[in-house]
Amino acid sequence: MDRQEQADVLVVGGGTAGFGAAVAAGRQGLNVILLEATSKVGGVMAFCPGMPWGAAYPADKIIGGLMGELTERLEKMHPPAAEKRPCTLANFGPEIIYDHDIATLTMFEMLEDAGVNVRLNASAIEPTMEGSLIKEVCCFDRNGPFTVTAAIVIDCSGDGDLSAKAGVPYSVGDLKGNTMGVTCSFHMVGVNWDETFAEPDPYFSHFAAKGISEDRLHPDLAKLYLMKGFHHGSVFCNSVHVRGVDGTNPVAIGQATQEGRRRCHQLAQFLRSDIPGFSTAYMTLLSPTVGVRETRKLEAVYKITSEDLAKGTKFFDGIVCCDNPIDNVMRSDSSMTHEAIVDEGSYYTIPFRSLMPANVTNLMFAGRIVCADPMAFASVRGMPQCMTMGQATGIAAALTLKSKSTVQAIDIKALIKELSRQGVNGLGESALI
Ligand SMILES: Cc1cc2nc3c(=O)[nH]c(=O)nc-3n(C[C@H](O)[C@H](O)[C@H](O)COP(=O)(O)OP(=O)(O)OC[C@H]3O[C@@H](n4cnc5c(N)ncnc54)[C@H](O)[C@@H]3O)c2cc1C
Repeated sequence: MDRQEQADVLVVGGGTAGFGAAVAAGRQGLNVILLEATSKVGGVMAFCPGMPWGAAYPADKIIGGLMGELTERLEKMHPPAAEKRPCTLANFGPEIIYDHDIATLTMFEMLEDAGVNVRLNASAIEPTMEGSLIKEVCCFDRNGPFTVTAAIVIDCSGDGDLSAKAGVPYSVGDLKGNTMGVTCSFHMVGVNWDETFAEPDPYFSHFAAKGISEDRLHPDLAKLYLMKGFHHGSVFCNSVHVRGVDGTNPVAIGQATQEGRRRCHQLAQFLRSDIPGFSTAYMTLLSPTVGVRETRKLEAVYKITSEDLAKGTKFFDGIVCCDNPIDNVMRSDSSMTHEAIVDEGSYYTIPFRSLMPANVTNLMFAGRIVCADPMAFASVRGMPQCMTMGQATGIAAALTLKSKSTVQAIDIKALIKELSRQGVNGLGESALI
């Protein structure tokens, strides 16, 4: 192959996890290539623009690290581009709401400042293995194939195609292979908040029931998730879910996106005609593609279980805190549940071992491909957690290269110490409660 590139670290995927991994590794002085298949960083955050960063405040304290830094940068802008708000939905703690375009621009700038070589519109396709090592990765952009040879590969692709091809075992969805619904979101702007949010039911269920019975809304829209957007008079509509879609199949994703957009336009029309406050509002920030919640979950040295969560386990190798409910979205039927898993004010941590495969010695992964059982997965997948998982792998890459060892032999104490030094709260002796 003509085009060959070298790096210390190859990060695959520029979602919240890939952002965390690449910035953290770059700041350690490593030569980092970040490949993102689309034209923007953010991943799901870019596909469902304006989606709040949830579970950022376990025990009412920000999780810190890169998430804290990004939030602070946005909050300190004039005018501020982010703020902490209570979530209107049951069992979710406070969340961070932000201006989507300013946030993604700031993330890109943080990547640049960390010296990361960001390659948009470029995909990792196939690993070449040498025993238990990924020797190089075949990639593709509009000019054709190229290879990246990297000492460490961090898979932050959400779907784990590369890891699966490298031989990492995985499971899909719940134990029967059902995955959560994929979602097209949008904003309405020009909404009279006072009129709309005078409604006591956060799901606007009786309005939705009428729309469904009159065949003006899809039957899966029994609950309308309408939340105040960051800018006054804007409303984020996170309601249109398409079920039974294989998020690793581009054809299925294209079809689901088209179907989702159709239902979004139908819903926008319904909001204008039926929901107080929307009569002169209009749609903006429609998803460019559906947001995919769940595909593969890779097997790692440790699998997080729902029992771990319920006990509020704080692992010796915990790398980020979480208090998200079990946020299940239409996995096997049209139900949407978000049951609390820890008591209010409590939290659990996500262990580093759930980001480390047993069988490939220079590979880590982070984000929604974390190793978790189906119920635990429904809680651990928040964007603040994904970003901090990434941050941990970026630091771990530096430690691994320094020790000239394998990722499995990482000095966990040094990792936790460095994460704490970088402001990640609630780990080890600095537990939040
Ligand atoms: C509809 C929806 C609503 C949600 N609501 C919330 C919420 O309110 N609050 C919250 O905190 N979390 C929420 N979540 C969960 C959260 O958004 C995700 O779990 C999180 O964003 C996943 O981040 P990630 O970086 O692991 O993966 P992704 O965001 O999926 O990013 C993966 C990236 O990798 C790229 N990629 C994939 N394959 C390749 C390849 N081979 N080469 C190069 N690039 C590749 C993709 O293009 C993508 O940009 C929601 C998720 C969805 C889908």
